[in-house]
Amino acid sequence: MLIMKKRNVENISKSELLSDLISSLGKGGFLKTPKVKQIFLAVDRSKYVLPQHEDLAFDDRPLPIGYHVTISAPHMHATALEYLKDHLKPGSKCLDVGSGSGIVCSYFMRMLEFSGMVVGIEHIEELTMRSYESIVADLHSVLEKKTFEVTALINEADPVIDDFKKKSLTPGQLLLVTGDGRKGFPQLGPFNCIHVGAAIGLEHTILLDQLANNGRMMAPVTGEFGHQEIIIFDKDAKGKVSQQKVLDVRYVPLTSKQKQLRGY
Ligand code: SAH
Repeated sequence: MLIMKKRNVENISKSELLSDLISSLGKGGFLKTPKVKQIFLAVDRSKYVLPQHEDLAFDDRPLPIGYHVTISAPHMHATALEYLKDHLKPGSKCLDVGSGSGIVCSYFMRMLEFSGMVVGIEHIEELTMRSYESIVADLHSVLEKKTFEVTALINEADPVIDDFKKKSLTPGQLLLVTGDGRKGFPQLGPFNCIHVGAAIGLEHTILLDQLANNGRMMAPVTGEFGHQEIIIFDKDAKGKVSQQKVLDVRYVPLTSKQKQLRGY
């Protein structure tokens, strides 16, 4: 008989749970690079999950965040950072499509060492606002030092976006926008790096159009028969795109708000 032992999280500190998670992600081959490991150690995932799931925050599994979607499992975030790390450099501009909990934006801003721009686009306004609060709670000590700024917009057509075009990228800018990520965010593109957190079809070339030359996009792509795989798209210096499949996955779709709210 299999006896499930519920961990008594009260008696184990968050940092112990996090270091256990990191060592198992390391053993599993998901976390490899010292900088990525360090960033994983710095982010408190319990700030990005619903309060009722805090005791599961350091398990390697996706967790519901409401609105029929989940925060992805830590091994998927680790995989994304490892594949994108060379494109997440200080001064880079990055787009996170379907930013959900906001945790990927936090990882990205840290990879950029708080210099550059991260734009998260999410179509559920409540998630955008919650992700803003999570990021502020997670990164309050950095925000106090004014090494980066975080702004949440409830409208992708907000005129304030024009100011972001002119802003210096030091201090870094993290912008959370409520809008339809299927269109990307051409207002602030092109981006050196694009991460898509929900499954797209290969017809979504609109996102690739917003990728800068020498940039990389990572996206779960749904192919024939509903099969999904993560594809890495690389754009070379002349704008030519090549792609490689890296692993099979199961993601929620990048869809309309209406379909998502009624459960697809
Ligand atoms: N990387 C996020 C993934 C969240 S799941 C995390 O780990 O927290 C995918 C997210 O994509 C959901 O938050 C969902 O609301 C969002 N989404 C789906 N379709 C979208 C669209 N058309 N535009 C913007 N966001 C979308």
